[in-house]
Amino acid sequence: MGKIVVIGAGASGIIAALKASEKHEVILIDKNDCCGKKILLTGNGKCNYWNSSISVDKYHTDNVTKLSHILDNKDEVYDYLCYLGIYPQVKGDYYYPYANSAYSVREILVNELLKRNIEIKYHYTVTKVEKMADGFKVVSEKESISCDKVIIAMGSKAMPKTGSDGLAYQIAKEYGLKVNPVLPSLVGLQTSESFLKVWSGIRANTEVSLLVDNKFIKKESGEIQLTDNGISGICVFNLSSEAIRALNNHREVKVLINFAPFTDNFYQFFDQRASDLVDFSMNELCESLFNYKLNSIFFKKCGINGNAHWKSLTDSEKKRFVQTITQFTIVVSGYGSFDKAQVCTGGISLEDIDEKTMEVLKVPSLYFIGEELDVDGICGGFNLAFAFISGYLAGKSV
Ligand SMILES: Cc1cc2nc3c(=O)[nH]c(=O)nc-3n(C[C@H](O)[C@H](O)[C@H](O)COP(=O)(O)OP(=O)(O)OC[C@H]3O[C@@H](n4cnc5c(N)ncnc54)[C@H](O)[C@@H]3O)c2cc1C
Repeated sequence: MGKIVVIGAGASGIIAALKASEKHEVILIDKNDCCGKKILLTGNGKCNYWNSSISVDKYHTDNVTKLSHILDNKDEVYDYLCYLGIYPQVKGDYYYPYANSAYSVREILVNELLKRNIEIKYHYTVTKVEKMADGFKVVSEKESISCDKVIIAMGSKAMPKTGSDGLAYQIAKEYGLKVNPVLPSLVGLQTSESFLKVWSGIRANTEVSLLVDNKFIKKESGEIQLTDNGISGICVFNLSSEAIRALNNHREVKVLINFAPFTDNFYQFFDQRASDLVDFSMNELCESLFNYKLNSIFFKKCGINGNAHWKSLTDSEKKRFVQTITQFTIVVSGYGSFDKAQVCTGGISLEDIDEKTMEVLKVPSLYFIGEELDVDGICGGFNLAFAFISGYLAGKSV
C-alpha cells in the first residue's frame, strides 16, 4: 500500500482517486471548496456524461493509435460508472443521468469518495510537483505533502472560473514533456460582418460547412445561434477545433451556412413555391421560411428588392438568391476565449504517456489524465468519457 496524491477533483481526478483507493491511501486535493465544479456546468446542468459511439474519430489528438488503445477500455469504465450508481437516460447516442441533473452525478461521485474515507483537501492550490529520491513532494503555498505517486488531473485552460487554469502544462514542461499549443475549443466562431447586430439572437436550423483555404473539411447540421459577433451552438462548436487550429496556422477559414437544409434543391423548391403562391412577393415567399431579420440580410446581400416577384428576377438574380440562402459565407476572424470554451484543443502530448496506465514514460510514478492531455472530443459526452476513462486507467494501474 502506497500513498497517492491526486491533484484536481474534477471528473478525471475523482475517478482516479476512487480506483486508486482500492489498493492505496489516497489524498485528493483541489483549490476549490468542493469537488466537480465543472461537472455541474456540463450538458446545460444535465451532464451528458457518456456516448454509445465512443471512438477515435470523435476526438482530436496528436496520437490516434494511443488514444484508440485508451478508448478500448470504455466498456469496463462504463460498467464502473453503473457500479457507482449512475443510472442513464439515453437520448439518441447521448447518455445523461436519469435524474437529468449534473448535480446528481457530482453527488454520487462525492458520496463514494466519502464512503471510501479518501482524504479530500480543499482550498489547496498546488504550485509545484517536485521529484524526490523516494517519491514526490506536492507543494502549495501552505504546506507540502510527500507521497509515492502523483496523478495530475488539473484540467486545461478552459473555463478557469471552475479552477482549471493550465498549470498542468507548466508542470508537464518542467518534467520535459511535449506540450502542443493549447487553444480554446467547443466555443463560438467570430466574424466581422456588418449585419451582426441585425441577426443577433436568432436561432436557425441549418447545415454548416467548414472550409479551410477553400477546401471542405467537415459538415454539421442542426440549430445554430446567430450572435452579435458570429455564430454559436453545438454544430458550430463541433467545427471549432479544426477552425481554431487552422486560424492559428494563418489559414483562411470560412463557414458556409445552408439556411434551407429541408430540401436538396432549394432552387426547385422555391420555384415551385413561387408558382403555387403566384401573387406573393419575395418577402412574402420567405416570410415563413426564415426569420424576417434574416430575410432583410439575404435580400441586401444578394441585391434583390424584397417587394420584387420571383418571376420578374433574372436568372443570375435567382441564382444569387439561392446561393445566398444555401451557401451563406462568413469569413471567420476569431473565436471565443478560454473563459467561454468548454474544452481546449492541444495540450500534453500522448507521445510521452503510457497508454495502458497514463503514466509518464520517462518519469515513473507520475501520471497525467483528463483534459490537460492533447485529446478533445466533439459535443456529446465524449470529453467527460475521456476524463473518466483516463482517470480510471491511472487509478487502476497506480
Ligand atoms: C460549460 C461546459 C459544459 C460542458 N458540457 C459537457 C458535456 O455535456 N459532456 C462532456 O462530455 N463534456 C462537457 N464539458 C467538458 C468536460 O466538462 C471536461 O472535459 C471535463 O470535466 C474535464 O475534466 P478534468 O477532470 O480533466 O478537468 P476539470 O474538471 O477541469 O478538473 C480540474 C480540477 O483541478 C483543479 N485544479 C486546477 N489547478 C489546480 C491547482 N493548482 N491546485 C489544486 N487544484 C487544481 C481544479 O480546481 C479542478 O477542480 C463541458 C465543459 C464546460 C465548461
